[in-house]
Parts: sequence; structure tokens; C-alpha cells
Amino acid sequence: AAGERPGSRPTTVSRDLAARAARVIPGGVNSPVRAYGSVGGTPRFLVSGSGPYVTDADGNNYVDLVASWGPALLGHAHPDVVAAVRFAATHGLGFGASVPQEAELAEAIIERVPLVERVRLVSTGTEATMTAIRLARGATGRPLLVKFAGHYHGHSDGLLAEAGSGLATLALPGSAGVTAETAAQTLVVPYNDLDALRAVFAEHGDRIAGIIAEAAAANMGVLPPAPGFTRAMIELAHSHGALVILDEVLTGFRASAGGYWGIEAAQDPDLISDGVTPDLFTFGKVVGGGLPLAALGGRAEIMDLLAPLGPVYQAGTLSGNPIAVAAGLTTLSLADDAVYARLSLVSDAIADGLGDALASAGVPHRIQRAGTLFSPIFGDFSEAPRGYADMQRQETWRHRAFFQAMLDRGVNLPPSAFEAWFVTAAHNDLAVELVLAALGPAARAAAA
Ligand code: PLP
Repeated sequence: AAGERPGSRPTTVSRDLAARAARVIPGGVNSPVRAYGSVGGTPRFLVSGSGPYVTDADGNNYVDLVASWGPALLGHAHPDVVAAVRFAATHGLGFGASVPQEAELAEAIIERVPLVERVRLVSTGTEATMTAIRLARGATGRPLLVKFAGHYHGHSDGLLAEAGSGLATLALPGSAGVTAETAAQTLVVPYNDLDALRAVFAEHGDRIAGIIAEAAAANMGVLPPAPGFTRAMIELAHSHGALVILDEVLTGFRASAGGYWGIEAAQDPDLISDGVTPDLFTFGKVVGGGLPLAALGGRAEIMDLLAPLGPVYQAGTLSGNPIAVAAGLTTLSLADDAVYARLSLVSDAIADGLGDALASAGVPHRIQRAGTLFSPIFGDFSEAPRGYADMQRQETWRHRAFFQAMLDRGVNLPPSAFEAWFVTAAHNDLAVELVLAALGPAARAAAA
């Protein structure tokens, strides 16, 4: 209704839906962070989204800064993406056979990340990283994988050691159900710590198949690689005959048009001329335009080890599904310079406003940034954080108060202190104004 404060209606319908879901779905959710465990209160059940807004089951409208955890680069229900999906659907929901548009999407990925020569489409980011790791092992004939503490690469067994995302939110060290043998195949190293990485390679170098790293960490809050770290990591791996998998599931086609690697390669063009380049990339989220689609890609000589050409097996009933491909292809084709300029402008406006509001309210904090991705960390971070141990020092109680105050004023933030905020190109000036207006009161709530 006119004059009504957004987000101010009751949440009784969401509450009832949560109770109903909890009777038949573990915790009432199909992905843990949705349960609002770390922020408390009633998880909002969303019934529609349009541009920068989402609407919950009680009719509350929110400016959305989750964006489906990244995919909604163009905003919710972009008319051209919806039209492409509808058009594809009228021709059949999927065949389990090749469709013409798969190569088109592979070409669109290659155009943006020219180091990628071959692409395989899968359905989730988890599958993309799982397959990339299998490829690294298949290509090198070695067993061990190096990952960084606080980096999240999906929920396959070997990757749940000291992972970010929901594990960080729930403060879990890993997962039950992962065998000690599997866990022992993953060596976890502190992020941005070259000495530690060198030590691991000195000890296990000839048994390490590869390193997997988020291009910029964004699942423990945003934490970019230190200057020169990516270069040193790749050089070290290659000097030991190991491969590098750059995980751009979250950052790909979002941190910049060419992902976070695009930013790094622009800052240090010698990376490419020196041949200091990742061997495999993984993509998800934006590349599927909001539908279940992800991808891995890399040099032909490695990618062609995949079946049916090579001995590394991978398959999927829904891989390359035509509706998901249509959503991804349309999203990438619409994501032009103007879209990335808008994403930058909106990120700057909100990140700056956030910093100002927290400073005015006397809330100790730091704004972490990586391209168009950002997140606040609450607490005394006068020294820049370098790894997971630093990020875990966050005063999460401040985030809880801040989150609830924002929600109350019609802004939907990620319900965790350990996640990036996601803007979209559909965040117009009004949506940004609504966010900025909520920041002051929310900052004061976080000060209490
Ligand atoms: N890799 C990164 C960097 C991610 O952020 C995520 C999900 O957030 C994944 C992998 C797993 O993707 P999915 O949730 O689609 O399995």
C-alpha cells in the first residue's frame, strides 16, 4: 500500500510455510544457509522477483542483494531471458541428446576467457569442480589436491575440509560422512601464505595433482588474493608439474566480464605472455542465467582427456539442457559493457554508503572488495585480513543485528556474515536509494 514501509508487513505466511517445510525437509531447507540459522528470525519464503526486487509470501517487497547467490546478473526475471527460456521450453524440455545451442554457449565462454579452448557443460558448480579435480588427477597421475582454508568449491567429499560458505556460517570444520582416506587426499593451506604453500610442495610436490583456488575468495566474506599471489601460486604448481584450477563459479562473468582472472590479467599482462596461466577454469552461477548450469574449461590437451575422447569419465542426464543453455546464453549475450559499468557503479555506491554508515555509527569494520563483489567484515580489522583465521575473527553478532535491521527496512542481504553481497545491473537509482536509506539505522543497530 502507498506509504507503507517496505518489509514491514507481518511474516506469518513465511512462518507457516517454514513450519510445513520443516516437517518434510531436513531443517525445512534444501541448502543450509537458507534456514537463517546464524541470523535468527523467520526465513522469508520468496514468491516472485522482478529486476532488483523480490517479494515474499506475505507480500513484503525487498531490494535484493542476494541475486540468487550470483546468477541474477541482469536482475530477476529479465524479460529477454524469460522469453528465451519460454521459447526453448516450447520446443521440448530436454532430450539427453546434443542440441545446437551448446556449442554457442561454449563459444561465448571462450570469447570471454580466451585461455579456455574447450568447455564441458554440467549442471552445478559442485560438478564442475569435482570434474576439474578428476581431470587434474587423470592428467598428472597423482593423488593429492591442494586447497586453501576458507575457499568453497561445492560439497563434494574431498572439498569440505575447512571450506567457507555454509560451513563457515555454521562454524563447522568439515562434514561427517567424509572418510579419513578421502580427507587425507586434500592438503589445506592458509590463503595468501606463500611460505606455507612452498612448504607443502617441498614435502609432497611429486604427489600433488593440482591446486584449486577461488579466483578471489568470496565464500568467507570477500578476500582477494594478495598482489602477486596468483602468479606465485601458478609458477610454484607448474614448477612441480602440478595443475592449477581457478574456480570462477562465483566470480566468473561477475567480478568483471572476464571474471576475477580478467582483472588479474589486466593488472599483470605479463601473466599471459609469460605463460603463467591456470590450466582449468570452473564456472557456474551467471553462466546458467539462473537455471542449473555450470561449466569447466581449459586447454584442449587437458580437456580432451574427458570421455569420450579420453580416459577421464564424466556424464550427466541434464548436462547441456536446452532451457538452461538458453538462459545462460541470453544472459551472457546481454552482459555488455554497459551492464558491467552499471554493476561497478552500484557496487561502489552501496559499498561506499555502507562504509560511511558504519563509520558514522562507530562500528568497527572493514569493507572487503574484489571487482564488483564486496562484503563488510565487522570488528577491528585495522590490519588487512589475509586468510580464513582472520575472517573468522568477525563479530558475527553485529552482522545479525545489521541483517535484521536491513530486512526490516526492505533490504534482503545474504543471511550470513561470510558471504559476498550481490548487486545486479537492474539495481536502478531508486533501488540503490532504498538500500542507502536503510544503512544508517542498520549500522546503529550493529553498534549496540
Ligand atoms: N565454487 C564456488 C567458488 C562457489 O561459490 C560455489 C557455490 O557457491 C561452488 C563452487 C559450488 O556451486 P554449486 O552450489 O552450484 O554446486
